[in-house]
Amino acid sequence: MEKIFLVLATRNHGKTVEIREFFKDFPVEIKNLDDFGPIPEIEEDGATFDDNAYKKASFAARVLGIPALADDSGLVVQALGGAPGVYSARFSGKSATDEENTAKLLKEMEGKKNRAAAFECVISVAVPSGPALTYEARCEGEITTAARGENGFGYDPVFYYPPLNKTFAEMSLEEKSEISHRGRALSELKNEFDKVITWIKQRLAEVKPKSPHSK
Ligand code: IMP
Repeated sequence: MEKIFLVLATRNHGKTVEIREFFKDFPVEIKNLDDFGPIPEIEEDGATFDDNAYKKASFAARVLGIPALADDSGLVVQALGGAPGVYSARFSGKSATDEENTAKLLKEMEGKKNRAAAFECVISVAVPSGPALTYEARCEGEITTAARGENGFGYDPVFYYPPLNKTFAEMSLEEKSEISHRGRALSELKNEFDKVITWIKQRLAEVKPKSPHSK
């Protein structure tokens, strides 16, 4: 079967390796933005994860002229009215570190009884002509009162997942991928990936310029 190209709208090497591994049995060649040299930065200023994922995927697809995949994710805390949400990466400032964001979260949660929270992830697959497919998933848990565990990144040490009695930072990568928001969204996409490839091929064929000899 003819391979299609798919560019990941990220320069994150870890994410690229993880996603390549996920789709290794499909006829798709996965690139990331580093394979294409400089393109303008995409500003993640959408009001929702959905807006940001679509913005990143459609921008990369349009600029590079090939189908693109983007994900956007973050932490939604009930007692904070859904914060940090789309501001997860910059909760305590523009170039905040994971430690600073986590410290701010624990401070804002001091004394709160309702500790319910969820990680959410939206994946968007877009073609250069505009249309996109969307996959969404969430993982419910609780915010701890102190950091626990050494693995992972971001808010992992303060996100407790009751079914495994561990924080995300106490899990192996395999354990986390099984149940995490991103892992679940990727699995959903993988389950439908044959259909997604057909959808992409159809969209690409629609916009191919006709040769002067075609009827
Ligand atoms: P992005 O989807 O890479 O833009 O992630 C946005 C931010 O959400 C990250 O910088 C983290 O702060 C947070 N985040 C997203 N996914 C996770 C996760 O699996 N663990 C911990 N933090 C996460």
